[in-house]
Amino acid sequence: MRLIKRIINIIQDPKRDFEERLFLLLPILTEMAMLLVFIGDIYIGEHILEIATLGVALILDPVIVYICLKWHKVQIGSKIISVLVVFIIMPIVFFFGGGPDGGGILWITYSAIFVGLLVKGRLRMVVLTALFVCAVIDYALAWYFPQLVFGHDREMYYIDSLLSVIAVGIFSYSMVRFQIGLYWTENERVKKESRRAERLNASQNAFFANMSHEIRTPINTILGLNEMILREDVSDEVREDAENIQASGRLLLTLINDILDLSKLESGQMKLVSGEYQTGSMIKEIASMLAPKAKEKGLEFAVNVSPDVPAALFGDEIRIRQILINVLNNAIKYTDKGRISFSVRAEEGEEDRVSLFFTVSDTGGGIKKEDMPYLFSAFKRVDENRVHHIEGTGLGLSIVKQLTDIMGGRITVDSVYTKGSTFVIEIPQRIADKSGIGTDISDLKTHNTSRAGYRSRFEAPKARVLIVDDNETNLLVERKLLRNTKMLIDEAKSGKEALAKTLETSYQIILMDHLMPEMDGIECEKEIRMQKGGLNKAAKIVALTANAGGDHKKLFEEAGFDGYLTKPVSGEALENEAYRLLPKELITMDGGEGDVLSDTVKWMHAHERKKPVMITTESVADLPEELTEQYGIEVISHKVLTAEGCFLDGKEIDARGLHTYMRSENSSVETKPPTTAEYEEFFAEMLTKAEFIVHIALSNGVKHSSFPTAMEAASSFDNVFVFDSGHLSSGQGLLAVEAAKLALEGCSPKEIQQRLRKLIPKIHMEFIVDNLEYLTRSGEVKPFVGRFLNSLMTHPVMTLKKGRMRLSGIYFGAREVSWETFLSHEAGKMKHADKGALFITYTGMEQEELRRIREMVTAKAGFERVYMVQASPSISANCGPKTFGIVYRGR
Ligand code: ADP
Repeated sequence: MRLIKRIINIIQDPKRDFEERLFLLLPILTEMAMLLVFIGDIYIGEHILEIATLGVALILDPVIVYICLKWHKVQIGSKIISVLVVFIIMPIVFFFGGGPDGGGILWITYSAIFVGLLVKGRLRMVVLTALFVCAVIDYALAWYFPQLVFGHDREMYYIDSLLSVIAVGIFSYSMVRFQIGLYWTENERVKKESRRAERLNASQNAFFANMSHEIRTPINTILGLNEMILREDVSDEVREDAENIQASGRLLLTLINDILDLSKLESGQMKLVSGEYQTGSMIKEIASMLAPKAKEKGLEFAVNVSPDVPAALFGDEIRIRQILINVLNNAIKYTDKGRISFSVRAEEGEEDRVSLFFTVSDTGGGIKKEDMPYLFSAFKRVDENRVHHIEGTGLGLSIVKQLTDIMGGRITVDSVYTKGSTFVIEIPQRIADKSGIGTDISDLKTHNTSRAGYRSRFEAPKARVLIVDDNETNLLVERKLLRNTKMLIDEAKSGKEALAKTLETSYQIILMDHLMPEMDGIECEKEIRMQKGGLNKAAKIVALTANAGGDHKKLFEEAGFDGYLTKPVSGEALENEAYRLLPKELITMDGGEGDVLSDTVKWMHAHERKKPVMITTESVADLPEELTEQYGIEVISHKVLTAEGCFLDGKEIDARGLHTYMRSENSSVETKPPTTAEYEEFFAEMLTKAEFIVHIALSNGVKHSSFPTAMEAASSFDNVFVFDSGHLSSGQGLLAVEAAKLALEGCSPKEIQQRLRKLIPKIHMEFIVDNLEYLTRSGEVKPFVGRFLNSLMTHPVMTLKKGRMRLSGIYFGAREVSWETFLSHEAGKMKHADKGALFITYTGMEQEELRRIREMVTAKAGFERVYMVQASPSISANCGPKTFGIVYRGR
């Protein structure tokens, strides 16, 4: 009895593993079913083999269960029992239990339920399939070899069938019942848990809201009174101390806000509060908040807003501000010199949707590649050694990332360690007003907030203000912060006192604390609006709250407040709000809006704005300066290494000097593409001028190709694309020009690359060299080919096929004669050229020779423009003097 009780307890114990309980229950039910049939079989005199099988199974079943439970091998036990049932018990019961006419067939159904409930994973399907395959085989055998089936008399069939129906019926029902029972208990448990979690969450939220309120109130006092000290003409030492208090107070405030936000985000409680907002004011206000900080550090602060950004959008403005302020703050914090640039552009989406792209670039310390994966982790400050003296908690970017995610946006980072970082934040929004923000963004003027010798923004000695707050220090702080405006200020310590005052005096503005005992700010505001005989039904009422969070804005708006300020409130915010709400006739002195921003923010004009796509290439692309300038193509130099030192291609060494040097004895010349680090630096700099870069690299198939290093460098950036030009010299240059034309037409980097790929085979480039000495030296031509052709005094013609250097022709005889034949030959091919432009790229040629070549070409083919381009030293070093090439675009 005790054993049975224990077993029942185990089966019913919800704390036990569900599988374990099922593993115990199902075999027990099976054991009972088998026992019933076993007794029945003995009674009706079944075949001895069936009785024996059932007997063995009756013993084996509990033994397996016991061992497996003891060794915690429930899954193995389930598998063993299922296999035994399917492959041994079922066939025996079938053949000795009367075949398809006997009760054995019901056991097949029972086994299917048994396996379905007990076996897990892929094995379940395998065993079930095996079970049905066995059933098919059993039926087939019974059909073709009926003698295999042990025959029963009529009575036996009846009893066997009845027993099976009862046993299978009861036990199948019990199994399913147990399952459903478990399901309901689990369901109840989960419901209870979720109710508990909800209650916990609600109390946690209330706790956080309270805590936020309690902590913000004293900080309000500290920051407010400290601001009063800073407004005074105090000694340097006191000023320094007060400034430190201000900085620490603000950090404490950020910390509280961040921890509250993080806890909301982590518990999934962060709710977005969407509303319509003016994009221009948002950007201006963010810029006006951060530009002075940048200026304090001596950093340039450039703002670049695309005029087609929609004027008004629909979304959670407060959270977008929070994201941008955080990222811009970091840029300023982690940059010691140079510039911070903040750009905003929009990409149209489907219907009324738009994707805003905010790009924040700095020229600061950058972030190491290995630190990138941890950048957005909470409480993680990367590169601790470098940043430990900079204030921070490591929470900012984690919050930024999570906020961006819940808005359905994306944040990406490009950074070159020691050079700077670029954060791109993409946020989808709904458009509220399609018209573009325009170019008047720079008209922003803000109030001069320089501290010493503080002057208020305005004076309004006839204006009356009522401040309602249960906290006396808050009353003191707010009164003092508004002192310089000369407004007449009354105070009320409770909602009740406020209602008494509003019966006697008419106020223009009422500053109302939110959480007060007895009557809170919202109730008090409603009473004032409906007060019988009240003088302030139409007064401007501004909520002052110590509870942060976007959801409050909506709450106050709906309650009918005219404004909303969060504590700790600065003097500037209070004055701005008062200025906004006061009737202008009450203002006697208007300090005007000082134009501080115009000298702290550099509003970028159209021509200074970042290009959407910039094309870059290399000095070996042999492009004339006039074309790089015309198309804004930026060029990075390859290097020429000689015994005398390393020189930047084209800048520090020219082709002529190099040839003279190469003719001297023991001269050794090697050319090298830029290193990965040099590329990274180049791309980082270019990204301050463009959103995307498409870099046209030297063919990957030639020696000293720049393609692999450029690719490696580009992997540090999300917005740099490296394109294998499959060409060199002006062939590469011509592709860069075509790419630049596409960029100007507004093609995206992807489109540009697609179009260039189709263009590669159309670029025709052939160059005739004086001999193969230099190409052999540089490894482009095999030495024996070089020696052989040189010994025959030939002038070989080279070209690039599928990115590799190939010999495409050989001319014999005097140099000038060869040139003429080469050009006549080329003239035939030029019939299929696009007649826009032809490049004649040369090295080591005399003026007279060049003039003749040009004449020959123009006589043979009429190109609109013929560019005579001196090849870069790198190309010259690899081809040798008296080399020239013809490059044009085929149709
Ligand atoms: P913190 O409070 O430390 O600034 P964040 O989460 O905002 O926390 O940033 C995490 C870390 O990422 C910082 O500690 C800093 O090491 C690095 N970081 C963030 N922004 C920049 C940036 N613009 N330049 C260099 N490092 C940065």
